[in-house]
Amino acid sequence: LFISFEGVDGAGKTTQVERLRQYAESLGRSVTVTREPGGTALGRAIRQMLLHGVPEDAESMRGAATVESAAGNAAENTENAGIAARAEALLFAADRAQHVAQVIRPALERDGIVITDRYLDSSLAYQAGGRELTVEAVRRLNLWASDALLPARTYLLDMDTDISHRRLTHSEDRMESAGAAFQHRTRQAFLELARKEPQRFKVIDAARPVDVVWQEIKADFDAVLAD
Ligand code: C5P
Ligand code: MG
Repeated sequence: LFISFEGVDGAGKTTQVERLRQYAESLGRSVTVTREPGGTALGRAIRQMLLHGVPEDAESMRGAATVESAAGNAAENTENAGIAARAEALLFAADRAQHVAQVIRPALERDGIVITDRYLDSSLAYQAGGRELTVEAVRRLNLWASDALLPARTYLLDMDTDISHRRLTHSEDRMESAGAAFQHRTRQAFLELARKEPQRFKVIDAARPVDVVWQEIKADFDAVLAD
């Protein structure tokens, strides 16, 4: 059984993933908890590049970003500290390809429950919705990268990005400090994905207290297990 958690930064995914792990283990199930980017050794190397950039390139891309801005295209939409939008999408896809091959598929084949903190929908929401590549292109890339493996259930922890953003003021990771407009587009992109696949997605109002959010996830998870 393959479960993913999605949502903007600060929505509380990591907390709920941990609750679901404890609950599923209490039922005697074998559970693998993992995350993207960074669920494998290759993925952690990629994550490092994605979150902290490649210093030399950040220098040389700065001029290019300025040109984009002058053309009316906000720099944050097209590049991220020196990593071009398409390169960024490919790095996330590479992380995912390794993650599926090395961690997710093998665990599913052992009949385990796999719970991942972010998966393919994050790429559709961030690399397409946030950074304005097309959804079709990012989807094609990632269906290939993941060998078309999709979760049975995706919990979208949804909340107003003004609230989620405030939770992250202490964060030093360059992506989480992306602008409010970027976070807002990403949230809307997630909601659009959920509207298109209502049988896979369960949208959860994550602005409520942690326990209330968890009870809703637990009730749904019980129903998924009983299916
Ligand atoms: O969820 P986590 O904090 O591990 O994500 C790391 C960073 O990568 C976050 O800032 C998130 O916004 C960003 N990200 C992204 N595109 C993805 C997945 C995550 O920009 N496909
Ligand atoms: Mg985070």
